[in-house]
Amino acid sequence: MKTHRGTELLQQAPTGTQISPYEMMLQQLDLVREQTDIPPGIWQILRQPERCLEVSVPVTRDDGEIEVFTGYRVQHNSARGPCKGGIRYHVGVTMDEVKALAGWMTWKCAVVNIPYGGGKGGIACDPTRLSQRELERLTRRYTAMIFPLIGPKRDIPAPDVNTNASVMNWIVDTATLLSGEPVPGIVTGKSIELGGARGRREATGRGVMFATLAALQRGNIDVSNARIAVQGFGNVGSIAALLLAEQGAKIVGISDVSCALYCPSGFDLRHVLDFIAGSPGHLLAGYDAPGVEEIAKSELLELDVDVLIPAALEAQITARNAHNVQAKIIVEGANGPTTPEGDLILADRGAIVVPDILANAGGVVCSYFEWVQNIQCFPWEEDDTNRRLGRIMQRAINEVWQLAQEREISLRLAAYVLAVERVAQAARLRGIFP
Ligand code: NAD
Repeated sequence: MKTHRGTELLQQAPTGTQISPYEMMLQQLDLVREQTDIPPGIWQILRQPERCLEVSVPVTRDDGEIEVFTGYRVQHNSARGPCKGGIRYHVGVTMDEVKALAGWMTWKCAVVNIPYGGGKGGIACDPTRLSQRELERLTRRYTAMIFPLIGPKRDIPAPDVNTNASVMNWIVDTATLLSGEPVPGIVTGKSIELGGARGRREATGRGVMFATLAALQRGNIDVSNARIAVQGFGNVGSIAALLLAEQGAKIVGISDVSCALYCPSGFDLRHVLDFIAGSPGHLLAGYDAPGVEEIAKSELLELDVDVLIPAALEAQITARNAHNVQAKIIVEGANGPTTPEGDLILADRGAIVVPDILANAGGVVCSYFEWVQNIQCFPWEEDDTNRRLGRIMQRAINEVWQLAQEREISLRLAAYVLAVERVAQAARLRGIFP
Protein backbone atom coordinates (compact mmCIF):
# COMPACT_ATOMS: atom_id res chain seq x y z
CA MET A 1 0.00 0.00 0.00
CA LYS A 2 1.17 3.52 -0.77
CA THR A 3 1.19 5.63 2.35
CA HIS A 4 2.89 8.79 1.15
CA ARG A 5 -0.14 10.90 0.43
CA GLY A 6 -1.37 10.92 4.00
CA THR A 7 1.96 11.59 5.56
CA GLU A 8 2.72 14.36 3.10
CA LEU A 9 -0.29 16.07 4.58
CA LEU A 10 0.63 15.06 8.08
CA GLN A 11 4.00 16.73 7.60
CA GLN A 12 2.18 20.02 7.96
CA ALA A 13 0.96 18.96 11.37
CA PRO A 14 2.72 20.16 14.48
CA THR A 15 4.90 18.15 16.82
CA GLY A 16 2.53 18.92 19.66
CA THR A 17 5.20 20.62 21.69
CA GLN A 18 4.84 24.18 20.37
CA ILE A 19 1.11 24.42 20.01
CA SER A 20 -1.84 23.64 22.23
CA PRO A 21 -3.60 20.25 22.10
CA TYR A 22 -6.72 21.87 20.67
CA GLU A 23 -4.73 23.57 17.92
CA MET A 24 -3.23 20.18 17.14
CA MET A 25 -6.69 18.59 16.94
CA LEU A 26 -7.79 21.35 14.55
CA GLN A 27 -4.74 20.94 12.35
CA GLN A 28 -5.39 17.19 12.10
CA LEU A 29 -8.95 18.01 11.11
CA ASP A 30 -7.73 20.39 8.43
CA LEU A 31 -5.63 17.59 6.89
CA VAL A 32 -8.87 15.77 6.12
CA ARG A 33 -10.44 18.73 4.39
CA GLU A 34 -8.97 18.26 0.92
CA GLN A 35 -10.01 14.61 0.95
CA THR A 36 -13.68 15.49 1.39
CA ASP A 37 -16.35 17.79 -0.01
CA ILE A 38 -17.80 18.81 3.33
CA PRO A 39 -19.45 22.27 3.01
CA PRO A 40 -17.73 25.18 4.80
CA GLY A 41 -20.63 25.67 7.24
CA ILE A 42 -20.39 22.06 8.42
CA TRP A 43 -16.63 22.49 8.84
CA GLN A 44 -17.28 25.39 11.15
CA ILE A 45 -19.54 23.14 13.24
CA LEU A 46 -16.90 20.39 13.46
CA ARG A 47 -14.18 22.84 14.51
CA GLN A 48 -16.10 24.08 17.56
CA PRO A 49 -17.13 22.13 20.65
CA GLU A 50 -20.88 22.30 21.25
CA ARG A 51 -20.60 23.03 24.97
CA CYS A 52 -17.78 23.84 27.39
CA LEU A 53 -18.51 23.93 31.09
CA GLU A 54 -15.99 25.18 33.65
CA VAL A 55 -16.90 24.56 37.27
CA SER A 56 -15.53 25.49 40.65
CA VAL A 57 -15.16 22.46 42.94
CA PRO A 58 -14.71 23.33 46.63
CA VAL A 59 -13.52 20.44 48.79
CA THR A 60 -13.11 20.24 52.56
CA ARG A 61 -9.69 18.70 53.13
CA ASP A 62 -9.18 16.17 55.91
CA ASP A 63 -7.62 18.91 58.09
CA GLY A 64 -10.80 21.03 57.80
CA GLU A 65 -9.38 23.60 55.33
CA ILE A 66 -11.32 24.35 52.14
CA GLU A 67 -9.54 24.04 48.79
CA VAL A 68 -11.18 25.04 45.52
CA PHE A 69 -10.33 23.07 42.36
CA THR A 70 -11.31 23.79 38.76
CA GLY A 71 -13.17 21.15 36.76
CA TYR A 72 -14.31 20.92 33.15
CA ARG A 73 -16.72 19.01 30.97
CA VAL A 74 -16.73 19.51 27.21
CA GLN A 75 -19.18 18.11 24.66
CA HIS A 76 -17.50 18.33 21.30
CA ASN A 77 -20.18 16.96 19.01
CA SER A 78 -23.42 15.04 19.57
CA ALA A 79 -24.63 14.73 15.97
CA ARG A 80 -24.23 10.92 16.07
CA GLY A 81 -25.47 10.32 19.63
CA PRO A 82 -24.82 11.17 23.28
CA CYS A 83 -21.31 12.41 24.06
CA LYS A 84 -18.83 9.85 25.40
CA GLY A 85 -15.46 10.37 27.02
CA GLY A 86 -13.40 9.94 30.15
CA ILE A 87 -12.68 12.10 33.18
CA ARG A 88 -9.05 12.92 33.91
CA TYR A 89 -7.57 13.98 37.26
CA HIS A 90 -4.19 15.61 36.61
CA VAL A 91 -2.35 18.83 37.42
CA GLY A 92 -2.00 19.58 33.70
CA VAL A 93 -5.74 19.51 32.93
CA THR A 94 -6.87 22.69 31.13
CA MET A 95 -9.94 23.67 29.15
CA ASP A 96 -7.82 23.56 26.00
CA GLU A 97 -6.69 19.98 26.65
CA VAL A 98 -10.21 18.80 27.52
CA LYS A 99 -11.55 20.37 24.30
CA ALA A 100 -8.93 18.51 22.25
CA LEU A 101 -9.57 15.19 23.99
CA ALA A 102 -13.33 15.61 23.45
CA GLY A 103 -12.72 16.15 19.73
CA TRP A 104 -10.56 13.02 19.47
CA MET A 105 -13.37 11.05 21.16
CA THR A 106 -15.78 12.25 18.46
CA TRP A 107 -13.51 10.82 15.75
CA LYS A 108 -12.76 7.59 17.67
CA CYS A 109 -16.46 6.79 18.20
CA ALA A 110 -17.22 7.60 14.57
CA VAL A 111 -14.44 5.48 13.07
CA VAL A 112 -15.76 2.36 14.81
CA ASN A 113 -19.30 3.53 14.00
CA ILE A 114 -20.83 3.39 17.47
CA PRO A 115 -23.73 5.80 18.13
CA TYR A 116 -21.86 8.33 20.23
CA GLY A 117 -20.47 11.79 19.92
CA GLY A 118 -17.34 12.92 21.76
CA GLY A 119 -16.95 14.42 25.21
CA LYS A 120 -14.30 14.69 27.91
CA GLY A 121 -13.92 16.01 31.41
CA GLY A 122 -11.31 16.63 34.02
CA ILE A 123 -10.21 18.33 37.19
CA ALA A 124 -6.91 20.17 37.55
CA CYS A 125 -5.56 18.44 40.67
CA ASP A 126 -2.77 16.20 41.89
CA PRO A 127 -4.62 13.09 43.06
CA THR A 128 -1.49 11.75 44.77
CA ARG A 129 -1.85 14.63 47.29
CA LEU A 130 -5.44 13.66 48.15
CA SER A 131 -6.65 10.98 50.56
CA GLN A 132 -9.36 8.54 49.43
CA ARG A 133 -11.97 10.50 51.40
CA GLU A 134 -10.83 13.75 49.78
CA LEU A 135 -10.94 12.13 46.32
CA GLU A 136 -14.46 10.94 47.04
CA ARG A 137 -15.61 14.43 48.14
CA LEU A 138 -13.90 15.97 45.07
CA THR A 139 -15.63 13.48 42.76
CA ARG A 140 -19.06 13.88 44.33
CA ARG A 141 -18.93 17.70 44.23
CA TYR A 142 -17.64 17.69 40.64
CA THR A 143 -20.49 15.30 39.70
CA ALA A 144 -23.02 17.67 41.23
CA MET A 145 -21.50 20.60 39.32
CA ILE A 146 -21.57 18.87 35.91
CA PHE A 147 -24.86 17.07 36.63
CA PRO A 148 -26.93 19.36 34.35
CA LEU A 149 -24.84 18.15 31.38
CA ILE A 150 -24.38 14.42 31.97
CA GLY A 151 -26.84 11.53 31.74
CA PRO A 152 -27.31 8.20 29.95
CA LYS A 153 -29.01 9.97 27.05
CA ARG A 154 -26.80 13.07 27.04
CA ASP A 155 -23.19 12.54 28.00
CA ILE A 156 -21.61 9.44 29.54
CA PRO A 157 -18.24 9.82 31.35
CA ALA A 158 -15.74 6.97 31.89
CA PRO A 159 -12.32 6.52 33.55
CA ASP A 160 -9.25 8.23 32.09
CA VAL A 161 -5.85 9.18 33.54
CA ASN A 162 -5.91 8.78 37.36
CA THR A 163 -9.58 7.84 37.57
CA ASN A 164 -10.90 4.29 37.96
CA ALA A 165 -13.92 2.14 38.80
CA SER A 166 -14.14 3.62 42.34
CA VAL A 167 -14.45 7.14 40.93
CA MET A 168 -17.14 5.91 38.51
CA ASN A 169 -18.99 4.21 41.40
CA TRP A 170 -19.08 7.52 43.34
CA ILE A 171 -20.44 9.29 40.26
CA VAL A 172 -23.22 6.69 39.86
CA ASP A 173 -24.15 7.00 43.52
CA THR A 174 -24.14 10.82 43.52
CA ALA A 175 -26.16 10.99 40.30
CA THR A 176 -28.63 8.43 41.64
CA LEU A 177 -29.20 10.53 44.77
CA LEU A 178 -29.52 13.77 42.80
CA SER A 179 -31.97 12.34 40.28
CA GLY A 180 -33.94 10.19 42.72
CA GLU A 181 -33.71 7.09 40.56
CA PRO A 182 -31.01 4.55 39.61
CA VAL A 183 -28.85 5.77 36.71
CA PRO A 184 -26.20 3.07 36.16
CA GLY A 185 -25.90 4.11 32.50
CA ILE A 186 -24.61 7.58 33.45
CA VAL A 187 -20.99 6.31 33.38
CA THR A 188 -19.11 3.29 32.05
CA GLY A 189 -16.09 1.60 33.59
CA LYS A 190 -17.80 1.08 36.96
CA SER A 191 -17.54 -2.07 39.07
CA ILE A 192 -19.31 -5.15 37.71
CA GLU A 193 -21.45 -5.26 40.87
CA LEU A 194 -22.88 -1.83 39.92
CA GLY A 195 -23.46 -2.70 36.26
CA GLY A 196 -19.94 -2.72 34.81
CA ALA A 197 -19.30 -4.88 31.74
CA ARG A 198 -17.54 -8.22 31.90
CA GLY A 199 -14.54 -8.06 29.54
CA ARG A 200 -14.07 -4.26 29.84
CA ARG A 201 -10.64 -4.60 31.49
CA GLU A 202 -9.32 -6.63 28.54
CA ALA A 203 -11.25 -4.81 25.78
CA THR A 204 -8.64 -2.28 24.64
CA GLY A 205 -5.88 -4.92 24.51
CA ARG A 206 -8.25 -7.27 22.70
CA GLY A 207 -8.97 -4.56 20.12
CA VAL A 208 -5.20 -4.05 19.68
CA MET A 209 -4.92 -7.80 19.08
CA PHE A 210 -7.58 -7.65 16.33
CA ALA A 211 -5.83 -4.69 14.71
CA THR A 212 -2.48 -6.50 14.86
CA LEU A 213 -3.85 -9.73 13.37
CA ALA A 214 -5.45 -7.76 10.52
CA ALA A 215 -2.20 -5.91 9.80
CA LEU A 216 -0.19 -9.15 9.86
CA GLN A 217 -2.58 -10.74 7.43
CA ARG A 218 -2.36 -7.81 5.05
CA GLY A 219 1.40 -7.74 5.43
CA ASN A 220 1.48 -11.46 4.49
CA ILE A 221 3.05 -12.43 7.80
CA ASP A 222 1.79 -15.59 9.46
CA VAL A 223 0.98 -14.88 13.10
CA SER A 224 2.91 -17.97 14.19
CA ASN A 225 6.06 -16.47 12.62
CA ALA A 226 5.44 -12.98 13.97
CA ARG A 227 7.94 -11.41 16.38
CA ILE A 228 6.44 -8.61 18.43
CA ALA A 229 7.77 -5.93 20.81
CA VAL A 230 5.43 -4.13 23.22
CA GLN A 231 6.27 -0.83 24.92
CA GLY A 232 4.28 -0.39 28.14
CA PHE A 233 3.14 -3.40 30.13
CA GLY A 234 0.03 -1.95 31.75
CA ASN A 235 -3.61 -2.58 30.96
CA VAL A 236 -3.35 -2.20 27.18
CA GLY A 237 0.17 -3.57 26.53
CA SER A 238 0.10 -6.63 28.78
CA ILE A 239 -3.33 -7.83 27.62
CA ALA A 240 -2.48 -7.27 23.93
CA ALA A 241 0.79 -9.18 24.41
CA LEU A 242 -0.92 -12.07 26.19
CA LEU A 243 -3.71 -12.39 23.63
CA LEU A 244 -1.28 -12.23 20.70
CA ALA A 245 0.93 -14.89 22.30
CA GLU A 246 -2.19 -17.05 22.63
CA GLN A 247 -2.65 -16.61 18.87
CA GLY A 248 0.85 -18.02 18.32
CA ALA A 249 2.93 -14.84 18.02
CA LYS A 250 6.28 -14.59 19.77
CA ILE A 251 6.53 -11.62 22.16
CA VAL A 252 10.28 -10.92 22.13
CA GLY A 253 10.42 -7.45 23.74
CA ILE A 254 8.50 -5.88 26.63
CA SER A 255 9.05 -2.75 28.68
CA ASP A 256 7.51 -0.57 31.36
CA VAL A 257 8.58 2.52 33.23
CA SER A 258 11.14 0.45 35.21
CA CYS A 259 13.05 -1.38 32.43
CA ALA A 260 13.02 -3.07 29.01
CA LEU A 261 13.58 -6.80 28.46
CA TYR A 262 14.46 -8.86 25.39
CA CYS A 263 13.93 -12.59 24.94
CA PRO A 264 14.61 -13.80 21.36
CA SER A 265 12.85 -17.14 21.94
CA GLY A 266 9.69 -15.37 23.23
CA PHE A 267 8.53 -14.58 26.77
CA ASP A 268 6.42 -16.89 28.89
CA LEU A 269 3.91 -14.13 29.58
CA ARG A 270 1.98 -15.92 32.33
CA HIS A 271 5.29 -16.22 34.18
CA VAL A 272 5.97 -12.50 33.64
CA LEU A 273 2.48 -11.53 34.82
CA ASP A 274 2.82 -13.70 37.95
CA PHE A 275 6.13 -11.97 38.70
CA ILE A 276 4.58 -8.50 38.27
CA ALA A 277 1.59 -9.38 40.44
CA GLY A 278 3.96 -10.33 43.26
CA SER A 279 6.45 -7.45 42.88
CA PRO A 280 6.03 -4.44 45.21
CA GLY A 281 5.51 -1.76 42.53
CA HIS A 282 3.92 -4.22 40.04
CA LEU A 283 6.84 -3.58 37.71
CA LEU A 284 9.04 -5.62 35.37
CA ALA A 285 12.32 -4.62 37.08
CA GLY A 286 14.00 -7.68 38.56
CA TYR A 287 12.31 -10.19 36.26
CA ASP A 288 14.65 -12.93 35.10
CA ALA A 289 14.29 -16.21 33.18
CA PRO A 290 16.53 -18.23 30.85
CA GLY A 291 17.24 -16.31 27.63
CA VAL A 292 16.01 -12.95 29.00
CA GLU A 293 18.35 -9.95 28.84
CA GLU A 294 17.85 -6.34 29.89
CA ILE A 295 18.16 -3.71 27.16
CA ALA A 296 17.85 0.09 27.17
CA LYS A 297 14.24 1.29 27.06
CA SER A 298 14.98 3.20 23.85
CA GLU A 299 16.33 -0.01 22.25
CA LEU A 300 12.97 -1.74 22.62
CA LEU A 301 11.48 0.57 19.99
CA GLU A 302 14.31 -0.27 17.62
CA LEU A 303 14.28 -4.09 17.86
CA ASP A 304 14.29 -6.13 14.64
CA VAL A 305 10.66 -7.28 14.91
CA ASP A 306 7.65 -7.65 12.64
CA VAL A 307 5.33 -5.64 14.90
CA LEU A 308 5.93 -2.85 17.40
CA ILE A 309 3.07 -1.98 19.75
CA PRO A 310 3.68 1.33 21.56
CA ALA A 311 1.23 1.07 24.48
CA ALA A 312 2.66 3.49 27.04
CA LEU A 313 2.78 7.22 26.38
CA GLU A 314 2.40 9.80 23.67
CA ALA A 315 5.29 11.00 21.42
CA GLN A 316 7.52 7.90 21.63
CA ILE A 317 8.32 7.56 17.90
CA THR A 318 9.69 10.88 16.78
CA ALA A 319 12.03 12.47 14.23
CA ARG A 320 14.88 11.45 16.57
CA ASN A 321 14.32 7.68 16.60
CA ALA A 322 11.89 6.81 13.76
CA HIS A 323 14.82 6.12 11.38
CA ASN A 324 15.91 3.32 13.71
CA VAL A 325 12.49 1.71 14.11
CA GLN A 326 12.74 -1.57 12.19
CA ALA A 327 9.25 -3.01 12.68
CA LYS A 328 7.26 -3.54 9.49
CA ILE A 329 4.00 -2.88 11.33
CA ILE A 330 3.31 -0.37 14.12
CA VAL A 331 0.02 -0.74 16.00
CA GLU A 332 -0.69 2.29 18.18
CA GLY A 333 -2.05 0.94 21.46
CA ALA A 334 -1.36 4.26 23.22
CA ASN A 335 -2.93 7.57 22.27
CA GLY A 336 -0.61 9.65 20.08
CA PRO A 337 2.61 7.57 20.36
CA THR A 338 3.89 8.72 16.94
CA THR A 339 4.62 12.37 16.17
CA PRO A 340 3.81 13.67 12.67
CA GLU A 341 7.55 13.76 11.80
CA GLY A 342 7.98 10.20 13.07
CA ASP A 343 4.96 9.18 11.00
CA LEU A 344 6.50 10.62 7.84
CA ILE A 345 9.75 8.74 8.37
CA LEU A 346 7.93 5.44 8.97
CA ALA A 347 5.84 5.95 5.83
CA ASP A 348 8.92 6.72 3.73
CA ARG A 349 10.20 3.23 4.36
CA GLY A 350 6.77 1.66 3.77
CA ALA A 351 5.88 0.70 7.35
CA ILE A 352 2.21 0.01 8.07
CA VAL A 353 0.97 2.21 10.93
CA VAL A 354 -2.43 1.28 12.40
CA PRO A 355 -3.53 4.60 13.98
CA ASP A 356 -4.58 5.03 17.61
CA ILE A 357 -8.18 6.09 16.96
CA LEU A 358 -8.71 2.70 15.33
CA ALA A 359 -6.23 0.41 17.11
CA ASN A 360 -7.17 1.33 20.70
CA ALA A 361 -10.93 1.84 20.15
CA GLY A 362 -11.78 -1.53 21.76
CA GLY A 363 -12.17 0.18 25.14
CA VAL A 364 -14.84 2.63 24.02
CA VAL A 365 -16.62 -0.09 22.04
CA CYS A 366 -16.88 -2.15 25.22
CA SER A 367 -18.04 0.95 27.12
CA TYR A 368 -20.81 1.19 24.55
CA PHE A 369 -21.73 -2.43 25.36
CA GLU A 370 -21.79 -1.59 29.09
CA TRP A 371 -24.18 1.29 28.42
CA VAL A 372 -26.43 -0.91 26.25
CA GLN A 373 -26.57 -3.53 29.05
CA ASN A 374 -27.42 -0.82 31.61
CA ILE A 375 -30.22 0.62 29.47
CA GLN A 376 -31.68 -2.83 28.83
CA CYS A 377 -31.07 -4.06 32.43
CA PHE A 378 -29.68 -7.19 30.78
CA PRO A 379 -26.07 -8.15 31.57
CA TRP A 380 -24.20 -10.13 28.91
CA GLU A 381 -21.81 -13.03 29.25
CA GLU A 382 -18.17 -12.15 28.59
CA ASP A 383 -18.23 -14.29 25.42
CA ASP A 384 -20.99 -12.10 23.96
CA THR A 385 -18.89 -9.00 24.59
CA ASN A 386 -15.78 -10.47 22.99
CA ARG A 387 -17.62 -11.77 19.95
CA ARG A 388 -19.37 -8.47 19.29
CA LEU A 389 -16.17 -6.51 19.95
CA GLY A 390 -14.41 -8.62 17.32
CA ARG A 391 -17.14 -7.96 14.80
CA ILE A 392 -17.11 -4.17 15.27
CA MET A 393 -13.31 -3.93 15.24
CA GLN A 394 -13.04 -6.16 12.15
CA ARG A 395 -15.58 -4.07 10.25
CA ALA A 396 -13.85 -0.79 11.15
CA ILE A 397 -10.42 -2.17 10.25
CA ASN A 398 -11.71 -3.37 6.85
CA GLU A 399 -13.37 -0.03 6.10
CA VAL A 400 -10.28 1.99 6.97
CA TRP A 401 -8.00 -0.32 4.99
CA GLN A 402 -10.25 -0.22 1.93
CA LEU A 403 -10.43 3.58 1.93
CA ALA A 404 -6.67 3.85 2.35
CA GLN A 405 -6.15 1.62 -0.67
CA GLU A 406 -8.76 3.31 -2.85
CA ARG A 407 -7.35 6.78 -2.22
CA GLU A 408 -3.70 5.81 -1.76
CA ILE A 409 -3.56 7.53 1.59
CA SER A 410 -2.21 6.46 4.98
CA LEU A 411 -4.33 4.40 7.35
CA ARG A 412 -4.28 7.36 9.74
CA LEU A 413 -5.66 9.78 7.18
CA ALA A 414 -8.18 7.16 6.00
CA ALA A 415 -9.42 6.67 9.58
CA TYR A 416 -9.85 10.43 10.02
CA VAL A 417 -11.60 10.83 6.64
CA LEU A 418 -14.04 8.03 7.46
CA ALA A 419 -14.75 9.42 10.93
CA VAL A 420 -15.06 13.08 9.98
CA GLU A 421 -17.30 12.31 6.98
CA ARG A 422 -19.64 10.28 9.22
CA VAL A 423 -19.97 13.12 11.72
CA ALA A 424 -20.37 15.71 8.95
CA GLN A 425 -23.09 13.62 7.30
CA ALA A 426 -25.00 13.34 10.59
CA ALA A 427 -24.72 17.12 11.10
CA ARG A 428 -25.88 17.71 7.53
CA LEU A 429 -28.90 15.38 7.88
CA ARG A 430 -30.01 17.03 11.11
CA GLY A 431 -29.95 20.50 9.63
CA ILE A 432 -29.70 23.64 11.71
CA PHE A 433 -32.15 24.50 14.45
CA PRO A 434 -34.25 26.65 14.30
P1 NAD B 1 -1.35 1.83 32.30
O1 NAD B 1 -1.03 2.89 33.28
O2 NAD B 1 -2.09 0.60 32.74
O3 NAD B 1 0.01 1.31 31.61
C1 NAD B 1 0.97 2.16 31.10
C2 NAD B 1 2.27 1.37 31.01
O4 NAD B 1 3.26 2.18 30.38
C3 NAD B 1 2.85 0.95 32.37
O5 NAD B 1 3.34 -0.36 32.27
C4 NAD B 1 3.99 1.93 32.56
O6 NAD B 1 5.00 1.42 33.43
C5 NAD B 1 4.47 2.05 31.14
N1 NAD B 1 5.35 3.18 30.91
C6 NAD B 1 5.28 4.44 31.40
N2 NAD B 1 6.32 5.17 30.97
C7 NAD B 1 7.07 4.34 30.18
C8 NAD B 1 8.27 4.50 29.46
N3 NAD B 1 8.93 5.64 29.46
N4 NAD B 1 8.76 3.43 28.76
C9 NAD B 1 8.10 2.24 28.76
N5 NAD B 1 6.95 2.05 29.43
C10 NAD B 1 6.45 3.09 30.14
O7 NAD B 1 -2.12 2.56 31.11
P2 NAD B 1 -3.00 1.91 29.98
O8 NAD B 1 -4.42 1.98 30.38
O9 NAD B 1 -2.39 0.62 29.54
O10 NAD B 1 -2.82 3.01 28.81
C11 NAD B 1 -1.67 3.03 27.99
C12 NAD B 1 -1.97 3.94 26.79
O11 NAD B 1 -3.13 3.45 26.11
C13 NAD B 1 -2.27 5.39 27.13
O12 NAD B 1 -1.80 6.19 26.06
C14 NAD B 1 -3.79 5.43 27.15
O13 NAD B 1 -4.29 6.73 26.91
C15 NAD B 1 -4.09 4.50 26.00
N6 NAD B 1 -5.45 3.95 26.03
C16 NAD B 1 -5.88 3.20 27.07
C17 NAD B 1 -7.17 2.66 27.05
C18 NAD B 1 -7.67 1.77 28.15
O14 NAD B 1 -8.79 1.26 28.04
N7 NAD B 1 -6.90 1.52 29.20
C19 NAD B 1 -8.02 2.92 25.96
C20 NAD B 1 -7.54 3.69 24.90
C21 NAD B 1 -6.25 4.19 24.94
